[in-house]
Amino acid sequence: MPASSRTHRLELADSTLREWEATVLHTDPELGIILDRSAFYPGGGGQPPDHGVLLWGGVQTRIVDVRRGDDQFLVPLDGDPLPPAGTAVRGAIEEDRRSALMRTHSGLHLLSGVVFRDFGALVTGSNMDPLTGRLDFNLEEVPPGFKEAVEAACNIEVDADRAIEAYELDRDAAFAIPDVIRTATNLLPPGIEIVRIVDIKGLDVQADGGTHVASTQQIGRMRVVKVENKGKGFRRIRIALES
Ligand SMILES: [Zn+2]
Repeated sequence: MPASSRTHRLELADSTLREWEATVLHTDPELGIILDRSAFYPGGGGQPPDHGVLLWGGVQTRIVDVRRGDDQFLVPLDGDPLPPAGTAVRGAIEEDRRSALMRTHSGLHLLSGVVFRDFGALVTGSNMDPLTGRLDFNLEEVPPGFKEAVEAACNIEVDADRAIEAYELDRDAAFAIPDVIRTATNLLPPGIEIVRIVDIKGLDVQADGGTHVASTQQIGRMRVVKVENKGKGFRRIRIALES
């Protein structure tokens, strides 16, 4: 998120927040609504944006997307009323979708940590939907029993109930952590001085802006659905979580 965004992002400090009070700073009929404070995850790092609702003046505006630019525009459902600038609103995040995405995102970080630790493979790409996701790895050889071994190792880490913490470091401190360098799939823009870190204690540390559960047990059972060979050294692992 560019530093020029006018929206204070509440979800970065508290991924459990689901309802809050805010004021509309600007409403654009084409682009959407800018709030002074928002817990809507705007999307990024493979995690799709939240859905939810704004309540104001006895009506509701359903939010179905977030448009990111210099500002963070909440995109309303077509035809819903638009709160004008200055309106006090109550925001609420759709719980089922958000909590599924938090579990899935944390599950993918856990997978990344396990596959690096046990097979030395680096992540080259990722994508997720609620309760399903995939990571791409740079891995030359897939040993026999790889899929089963990865799934078993992931569930051992789920059962271990490792703490998952998010915190901020300045850029130099963040990039002094070998795990952060290893997992940096996207180069950080040079203007970013503060790096948000997501740390699965003892397993995986990444620079990450997403929302995560508080411990690995909250991810729940992980299933490795498929290991695909996408070309030389390019393996795609698909996972699914229990609903
Ligand atoms: Zn992530």
